[in-house]
Amino acid sequence: MLPDPDKKTVLDPFGTSVVADYERLYKEFGIEPFNPLLSKVSNPSFYMRRGIIFGHRDFDRILNAMQKQEEFAVLSGIKPTGEFHLGTLMTAKEIIHFQKQGAKTFYCIADVEAYEDNKIPFEKSEKIAVDNVADLLALGLNPKKTYIYRQSKETRVKDLAIIFGRPVTLATMKAIYGERHIGLYLSALIQAGDILLPQLEDFGGPKPTIIPVGIDQDPHMRFTRDIAQKFRRKYKFILPSSTYHKLMKGLDGSPKMSKRQMNYFTLHDSPEIIAERISNAFTGGRATIKEQHELGGTPEICPIYEICLFHFVEDDDEIVKIYHDCKTGTLLCGEHKKQTIDRVLGFVKEHRRKKKMFTDEARKILQLEQ
Ligand code: SF4
Repeated sequence: MLPDPDKKTVLDPFGTSVVADYERLYKEFGIEPFNPLLSKVSNPSFYMRRGIIFGHRDFDRILNAMQKQEEFAVLSGIKPTGEFHLGTLMTAKEIIHFQKQGAKTFYCIADVEAYEDNKIPFEKSEKIAVDNVADLLALGLNPKKTYIYRQSKETRVKDLAIIFGRPVTLATMKAIYGERHIGLYLSALIQAGDILLPQLEDFGGPKPTIIPVGIDQDPHMRFTRDIAQKFRRKYKFILPSSTYHKLMKGLDGSPKMSKRQMNYFTLHDSPEIIAERISNAFTGGRATIKEQHELGGTPEICPIYEICLFHFVEDDDEIVKIYHDCKTGTLLCGEHKKQTIDRVLGFVKEHRRKKKMFTDEARKILQLEQ
């Protein structure tokens, strides 16, 4: 099913988010457009340059810290529910980018949320987390400069959640997250603890902190910024900043990648499955080759174009050429799918080779027995 342009935007970190129109988010949710800041960023990431990061809250504060070479932090995380896929890969690349720009780096394994939201027992999420951390290290995160922790084991985060819960009413939780079980409200408080952890005295005290996330996570940011405001006097918190990236579509063209619809692949699926999913993907192509040559395709709605844009075509000139060749009917979908399969399988093979070298280190970081 394709997104309905008339549908209202829904941002639900615990459910399905629908973004009918990214422009509307500026008005509806008070998110600032990222584009006006782009020229001020000295080393913009791939996602910033391509407009995939489209919005922010208080990114100026991070920009200022980077320009003056002052201390700032980046925090991101993963819900250990399964293998790395193209969505989690995006967040991983963003945190690595900010680490390379000098950010103190924090990475949270959201095992409490995996338990509350996805019913994943801690013994299981522990194993998944090892795999996720090995992925992260293979992608280039420097473990020596990163504090990686599990929510369930980080007492400071849990303590913050207890403290933060006091001024929050049930009505507030319902207004932000809808009617949910108490465990999910608890995991939202814990996530506020994660986001503000880098500002505790143990980590050098208050500092600008950037949280790079998909737009579906904005309710957590609004909630945490409100908490930070409430506890400003006690902890001297600086309101955390965020950047927002667009959400990737499913390979069937539906608005979200979903396990149930099997409309995506992970970095650990077999080459055959990856090739099959890409081959069977929806495209923005025409019904016949003749029509495609005459009228061109529609890359704007095409998940094949999107996975190239978001991940597998590094060179900006090359992605512009793909867009142009699609629009003018020079590039055909069959040929483009084949090229994309080759690119993805090449990346995945190399990634798996590197990842093998990091599994033991990942276990050590998570303080698990070898
Ligand atoms: S040529 Fe490529 S980008 Fe264009 S519609 Fe076909 S698959 Fe999508």
